[in-house]
Amino acid sequence: MNRRTKILATLGPSTDDPGVLKGILDAGVNVVRINFSHGEEKEHLSRVVAVRNYAKENDTFIGILMDLQGPKIRISSFKTEKIELKNGDQFTLDAELGEDEGSQDSVGLAYKGLPSDLNNENILLLDDGKIILQVKQIMGQKIITQVIQGGILTNNKGINLRGGGLSASALTDKDKKDIVTAAKADADYVAISFPVNVDDVRETKRLLAEAGSNASVIAKIERAESLQEDVIAEIIQESAGIMIARGDLGVEIGDPQLPAQQKRLISLARSNDRFVITATQMLESMITSPIPTRAEVFDVANAVLDGTDAVMLSAETAIGKHPVNAVKTMSDVCLEAEKSRRASLSHHRLHEPFEEIDYTIAMSAMYAANHIGAKVVAALTQTGKTALVMSRISSNISIFAMSDNNKTLQKVTLYRGVYPCYMEKTSMDDWNDVNTHVVENLQSKSAVENGDIAILTKGMHKDKSGGTNLIKILRVGDGNY
Ligand code: PEP
Repeated sequence: MNRRTKILATLGPSTDDPGVLKGILDAGVNVVRINFSHGEEKEHLSRVVAVRNYAKENDTFIGILMDLQGPKIRISSFKTEKIELKNGDQFTLDAELGEDEGSQDSVGLAYKGLPSDLNNENILLLDDGKIILQVKQIMGQKIITQVIQGGILTNNKGINLRGGGLSASALTDKDKKDIVTAAKADADYVAISFPVNVDDVRETKRLLAEAGSNASVIAKIERAESLQEDVIAEIIQESAGIMIARGDLGVEIGDPQLPAQQKRLISLARSNDRFVITATQMLESMITSPIPTRAEVFDVANAVLDGTDAVMLSAETAIGKHPVNAVKTMSDVCLEAEKSRRASLSHHRLHEPFEEIDYTIAMSAMYAANHIGAKVVAALTQTGKTALVMSRISSNISIFAMSDNNKTLQKVTLYRGVYPCYMEKTSMDDWNDVNTHVVENLQSKSAVENGDIAILTKGMHKDKSGGTNLIKILRVGDGNY
């Protein structure tokens, strides 16, 4: 059985070894993530080339997601590299202090706007929440704090404000340059970090279009304020999909709130016909350990049961000691979780009217497929939209997105239960010929056998996107296509 949940793996120094890269891709990575927070343009582009070459050589499709760094809300450096803060200490964050002038009493800020974003009693979380400071006084560019939870503090650690509200804009000058790199790399997806609202998503789309890219935009949900009902609704509507960036989000809202938010965001994305990626620390212990903890196994499985499209590996593959094992582990856990009945139960839009013909066809095909016990649904698609919509219905039926558009086939790699399948543009005017061709294509992939039911959807105007208006139900092998 093919795995339905998609695996997203972050590339980095560990995967630069060609054997390791081949190992993780052979193990079933569907989409690679290139993280602009680390490395230079040259490195990013050479990773993209290596992945594209693998896909070509192996006659497969792998999506490329390039992840913008976003605002660097960080402290600067210490003269001594690190200090130790003790509970109750007074410690100053000083926007005017030099870059490497940090000491036991104070440290500079890479984000100069911090003092004007804060109020007394605000809680600041440094280094992913390991160090907690409470703001006691703001004196010009100096933030006087008291240490609530101490520990070792090293250079350039990130700062989050509990509850959110930092005004740093989502798209930095570096992000704008990286968008041009993403266009050069012909990325399939670009992820925007820390979007505050829908305007940040719109601006990213505008900059991508200006750079000549048709990458789709993924909004990383990692700010407390983006969780407000109207804000998240607009962000989801404007984005191709979302990423639940549990690292920063957890620090801003507090980890105990994360599980409920994860379930809410997955459900919101799916019900709005968008895909969703669950990210960060999924198999964290495998950065150093060859096996995961049981809690991590449960975390991946629970995301699958929640309905996520994809699960993501970050440091596990980028800098970890066991990248191939991490992918194999994730794949095995997904496959087992997908066997649960809960993973294929769906109430998607059961009681809602549909407005569009292609949407109605997609829903009807899945309804028919579920009831007649079809083996596959094959959607002849230009943009992948029909396949995306179909995959919003949780089921065990394989959805083949069939297209001659490589870009579309690279994008559908992220949709749960959707498999990309190249089908050359046909000059066939006779639909029977097209049907035969689709069945042969599915047979060549061992996706169907004689006697299986296959359901095809297509548009009367084959080359027009959004034109899907036909369903054909056929039994493989009876020649009655
Ligand atoms: C996160 O914060 O969970 C995340 C995915 O973002 P990044 O890894 O870019 O910090």
